[in-house]
Amino acid sequence: MASVVGFLREYRVVTATLLVGLLGGILELAGPPDAARWTISVFALVVAALQARGMIADLRAGSYGIDLLAVTAIVSTVLVGEYWAALVVCLMLSGGEALEDYAAGRARRELSALLERAPQIGHRFLPDGTVVDVPVTELVVGEEVLVKPHELVPVDGVLLSEDATFDESSLTGESLPVDRRRGDDLLSGSVNGGEAVRVRVTAAAADSQYQRIVELVREAQDSKAPFVRLADRVAVPFTVVAFLIAGLAWFLSGEATRFAEVLVVATPCPLIIAAPVAFMAGMSRSARNGVIVKGGGTLEQLSRVRTVAFDKTGTLTYGTPHVARVDVADGLGPDEILSLAAAVEQYSSHPLAAAIVAAARERRLTVPAATDVEEVTAHGVRARVDGRAVVVGKASFVADEVSGVRDVPLEPGQTGVHVGVAGRYAGVVALADEIRAETSETLAGLHRAGVRTTMMLTGDAEPTARHIAAGIGIDDVRAGLLPEHKVDAVRAVTARPVMMVGDGVNDAPVLAVADVGVAMGAKGSTAASESADVVIMLDDLYRTVRAVQIGRRTMRVAWQAIGIGLGFSLVLMLVAAAGLLPAIVGAWMQEVVDLTCILWALLASRPGREERAEQNRVEALRAERVRTAGAPVGRTELARQ
Ligand code: ADP
Ligand code: MG
Repeated sequence: MASVVGFLREYRVVTATLLVGLLGGILELAGPPDAARWTISVFALVVAALQARGMIADLRAGSYGIDLLAVTAIVSTVLVGEYWAALVVCLMLSGGEALEDYAAGRARRELSALLERAPQIGHRFLPDGTVVDVPVTELVVGEEVLVKPHELVPVDGVLLSEDATFDESSLTGESLPVDRRRGDDLLSGSVNGGEAVRVRVTAAAADSQYQRIVELVREAQDSKAPFVRLADRVAVPFTVVAFLIAGLAWFLSGEATRFAEVLVVATPCPLIIAAPVAFMAGMSRSARNGVIVKGGGTLEQLSRVRTVAFDKTGTLTYGTPHVARVDVADGLGPDEILSLAAAVEQYSSHPLAAAIVAAARERRLTVPAATDVEEVTAHGVRARVDGRAVVVGKASFVADEVSGVRDVPLEPGQTGVHVGVAGRYAGVVALADEIRAETSETLAGLHRAGVRTTMMLTGDAEPTARHIAAGIGIDDVRAGLLPEHKVDAVRAVTARPVMMVGDGVNDAPVLAVADVGVAMGAKGSTAASESADVVIMLDDLYRTVRAVQIGRRTMRVAWQAIGIGLGFSLVLMLVAAAGLLPAIVGAWMQEVVDLTCILWALLASRPGREERAEQNRVEALRAERVRTAGAPVGRTELARQ
């Protein structure tokens, strides 16, 4: 009951319309002749006038008012004496707004939940070991906080307790709880398991994972472009056709009533409401799957993607290479080369750098400090170590500084990091990076979802790139590219839209020029997720397929909803033009049509047949992979829809 009162208070025009309807009914039965007609007509005209005012404001703001039909419908029904029909149109107009709010609310359920669940407080440890509650915004990097059982991790941090389990599903879409050990990174917004843990803060609230997602989601919700465009494309022709039919019906029959009867069933509510609802539902569903889409326009592009380009390291591969061996030239031994390379690489954030440092540590080599460190993006790093000039990177880069670089063939698929010391070539560190378990099924899935061409864009050497591409079935391989060459390559693609998937290291420019830039793993650099249109929260390449599928499903549902609404409307118009549909019946029929197409649009909240088939296929593949030889299981996880 309370909710009914709340509803009536919030939607005043609906309430007024219902009251006028009640009053009209009483007057019709017991009032003086024509009292009902006058009351209802005046009210309907006022509603029409209000609507027209809004329409003019819209026109001024540059968007087409497609309410012209509704306004004309009200005025013409009043003029021909079909005032009850006019009242039903008023109800539809005002009720439509309520319906829209309801549908939009349902459609963005997950997005809203994400925003509302943001962590608010943290439990700070005081020096004496006691704990006080402070707002998350006051937590500073380096301090320790307590996270109680089943609580949200307030900001990003590292685990200080021995081990614990966290539910990261709202962040990544990964439904299984993940185990974390002492020293592991924790994401704000993940939910602690059953034990209280200590956490050291590594990022302030504003820089933390959850708060960044919230930012992305806000951006997504605010973007309205495609809804308007989609509707605009159809609105004007539809309006013209409606007026033509109505005018022709009037002309041929000689009855003005026909004009009103046609327009009553011509209100294009599907255009205004159904498409936005479908888009909102699509964005919400992708968020639930760990894919943050930064706007409805991106969903539209995703649905049509023709070409997909991938970065290699960290995208097609895990991006956690390991040192396979060290080839020495002459002079220095392998350990010395590794130790010097690590000394330089410890200042770089490149995945290859991390691997070299890790290898040196593993072999318990000393890693001296370096000075004058200079990293040249996509080439390598130069620095001074113990008075010697050390240069580390790709063959051509090292060859600029030292002579005698030998670009010896490595094992297929391995990447060579060359090392020059004090003007002489020292040798090469061979690194192997594993191809992701889900890479092949991702490429196949993309093709099934309508993608024509797949490309690999990499800064790595040609033989390495070719070997990896051959194993996974990539069509087009471009190797030895600098970031600006990657940009050129994406710009030159003719089969568009083109999607670029990168892991975030050095990828920001190329993500920005692609029609759809996809950044893998929110843990990647901030720069990349800012220039990306889609951020995949989980380190799972297969989510790119999910993103395309959700885009396709959303567009299909949006067009279906519009088609159903306008199709029915058109049929009703023709029936009305033939004089077979009294205005009052038509007005109610149109209500039914509106409701149907809005409910249809909400179907974008659920996967379609194509998606379910793909899901079954991939699940079978994974089961197969587990059965045979216990091959590593990809993190592709499709249970959540
Ligand atoms: P990718 O396209 O595979 O992501 P990048 O553009 O990041 O590759 O780098 C291209 C190449 O440049 C690498 O394969 C490597 O040979 C070299 N390189 C870049 N940065 C470094 C570094 N810090 N240490 C060693 N080599 C590097
Ligand atoms: Mg890279």
